[in-house]
Amino acid sequence: MASTPEFQHTVGKIASLSGTALHTGDKVTLKLHPAPVDHGIKFKRKDLQDEPTIDAKIENLKTVERATTIGEGSVRVHTVEHILSALSAMGVDNAIVEMDANEPPIGDGSAQSYVDLVKKAGVTPQEAARKFFDVREPMHVEGKTGALLVLLPDDKFRISCTQAGPNNRFTQFLSMEVTPALFEREIAPARTFVYYEDVKPLMDKNLIKGGSLENAIVVRGDAVLSKEPLRFGDEFVRHKILDIIGDLALVGRRIRGHIVAVKPGHATNADLARSIVREQTRRSALAAPRTIPSGDGGLDADQVMQILPHRFPFLMVDRIISFETETKCIGVKTVTINEPFFQGHFPGHPVMPGVMQVEAMAQVASILLFKLSKTTSRIGYFMSADGVKFRKPVLPGDTIFVHAELTKSRGERLAKAKCHCVVNDAIVSEAELMFTFLDK
Ligand SMILES: [Zn+2]
Repeated sequence: MASTPEFQHTVGKIASLSGTALHTGDKVTLKLHPAPVDHGIKFKRKDLQDEPTIDAKIENLKTVERATTIGEGSVRVHTVEHILSALSAMGVDNAIVEMDANEPPIGDGSAQSYVDLVKKAGVTPQEAARKFFDVREPMHVEGKTGALLVLLPDDKFRISCTQAGPNNRFTQFLSMEVTPALFEREIAPARTFVYYEDVKPLMDKNLIKGGSLENAIVVRGDAVLSKEPLRFGDEFVRHKILDIIGDLALVGRRIRGHIVAVKPGHATNADLARSIVREQTRRSALAAPRTIPSGDGGLDADQVMQILPHRFPFLMVDRIISFETETKCIGVKTVTINEPFFQGHFPGHPVMPGVMQVEAMAQVASILLFKLSKTTSRIGYFMSADGVKFRKPVLPGDTIFVHAELTKSRGERLAKAKCHCVVNDAIVSEAELMFTFLDK
């Protein structure tokens, strides 16, 4: 498979754009800022206290009704798919999208204004390799309403899409490779289209205050209503491709593969993004070292105990085998039949309790935190665990590789970590943990 090294890119300078938010009808100003390597795309709510940011990641997906909404905590950003589509297709890997509202300006319902914005800001290479997801085997997702997305191996990013309206009216097909030049010319100008029967109730409830024939094409029966004539005979399928690119940007990696889509929508696009991220996590787990190195690059049991206050029977890390970066490491826990919890869990059928795996993840994550803050005078307290999944039983004799990655640390008081445990090349458990720090 062709894999020419490609560099990550960000925007060359700050550029801004003003317009109307679709749902509230408010005026909104959006500013595109450069961002460092491996930053990804983040949205920043300049209008809120503390100016919170939200990662454009599938884990932060909140709703997919008509548009794609992401959020963290109580903070939301709506209708992110068109700007994400433009950023991704025009080759921007890292940027901050700062806004003074909960939604980007809708423009004319296409991605045209965002492409113009990216071109105004410029796209510049950075000194790190781009991250790709190479499709190795066919993957597919299906929706309840006949939507189907198939992802096939390809050395380019291609999309072949079939769109069909009610009673198969407006059935259109287009197949293309996604490149910046083709996106700008063939996809970006394609506008949002809606069916009259879908938007009528919303207009009646005043839920799309900024909506008008200036930013959407309305289909009523066989009639097509819009301010200006159709820009392409097959404008609808082109907009579907625009949305697929935007929703799949939530994967956070560039896809090398061919997407074959039939009647796609935001929900199935999001399902495919989730499957890709799951597959990527599985692959990363497989890439974990099988042998346990000692010495440089990790921490032995003594060093672990200098950092962690935990002792038998609660020390759940034997050794840290490697620090990949400052925010990522892998610890090891060898599970023996002599573990005290096996006496009661369960007699004659020893299975390691899931909570002990979560404890192991928490301990490995706190080693990262202490390394980062360079102090052991404080102790991390576990506040919450989200997305906890126990996938396979852990048995006596297993060696658990505990992966931890700090995803957020706010000041020196709060931190979040994504963790998973691997045994024999399979993920046995995973969780997202939140900590707070208190002085000992
Ligand atoms: Zn759209």
